[in-house]
Amino acid sequence: MAETRIATASPAALATTRDRLGRSLRDLRISVTDRCNFRCVYCMPKEVFGKDYAFLERKEILTFEEIARATRIFSELGVEKIRLTGGEPLVRRNLEQLIEMLARVPGLDLTLTTNGSLLARKARALKDAGLRRITVSLDSLDEAVFRRLNDVDFPVAKVLEGIEAAASAGLAPVKINMVVKRGENEDGILPMARFFRGTGHILRFIEYMDVGHTNGWRMDDVVSAREIVAMIDREMPLEPVDPNYTGEVAERWRYKDGSGEIGVIASVTQAFCRDCTRARLSTDGKLYTCLFATAGHDLRALLRGGASDADIRMAVSGIWSKRTDRYSEVRTAQTVKLQKIEMSYIGG
Ligand code: SAM
Repeated sequence: MAETRIATASPAALATTRDRLGRSLRDLRISVTDRCNFRCVYCMPKEVFGKDYAFLERKEILTFEEIARATRIFSELGVEKIRLTGGEPLVRRNLEQLIEMLARVPGLDLTLTTNGSLLARKARALKDAGLRRITVSLDSLDEAVFRRLNDVDFPVAKVLEGIEAAASAGLAPVKINMVVKRGENEDGILPMARFFRGTGHILRFIEYMDVGHTNGWRMDDVVSAREIVAMIDREMPLEPVDPNYTGEVAERWRYKDGSGEIGVIASVTQAFCRDCTRARLSTDGKLYTCLFATAGHDLRALLRGGASDADIRMAVSGIWSKRTDRYSEVRTAQTVKLQKIEMSYIGG
């Protein structure tokens, strides 16, 4: 009986699947590796992700073919945007090949988030493979602060080179994400705004979040989006801009003199769960319906276990239809302590 239903459910019907709070499935973030060449102190601290840390083994991680198949299935379910992330996606060998495969899926907006360390040499190949846009993480322009945060002594200049290479390759506008953590880098907010204003790149400030359970997050560490906007506005007057689409994560602001725009991602102080249309696929093929989840659903077992595309579509649609996640709206001192999965594994 169940099998008959699987065979007859049309993709069009499934594409309208909504979760329990009426949200559709529109975005998929895919973590292509749990490894990273940085050890950002707030994300993959060395004390936890050191020499003895058990990263996933090769056979555990989804192959490019498996990722491409999953992507096609998600696209049939209504996903319009794919973001490749990690870990550091550019450390996965031959990533361009995966991008080429994904670019063949019709109607997808294909983008990637990177720390920029390998971008200067890879930007052109990524673009040629079919990548549309790129987001580069950069938490400070101050050499000492940046090196302390990435904790592998990586210089700012190399990331800036990567950003320029991406823009020249046509991956523009480049978005630049700065996570702001109080006491670490908030002095860098104005220098970053001054530096990127007028360049055509879009700088976005992200509130520091309690993802995972290794970063020792405290509410006091958060510099609110409101504070950030006020700080910039005092020196470089800003005005709000309408969102590009419903559910856009960043709140947009533009400089009144026309010299560009910035964004703020207020995931802690102004949670946007009610518009969240995002799912996440971990490096080893687990599906998560929230960044703050404590457990995922094993799609790899289906992908490797002989399930048909229709079976997998039905499984994903079933998971999505039961979704009730709204972690950021119900965050408390207690939820912060949950054993949430790490961002490097689930993908930022
Ligand atoms: N390695 C890539 C990069 O650096 O962009 C992709 C993965 S990284 C986990 C994605 C983004 O998540 C980065 O911009 C990083 O700064 C951000 N991130 C990590 N931990 C965070 C936290 N606790 N709060 C807010 N953003 C965080």
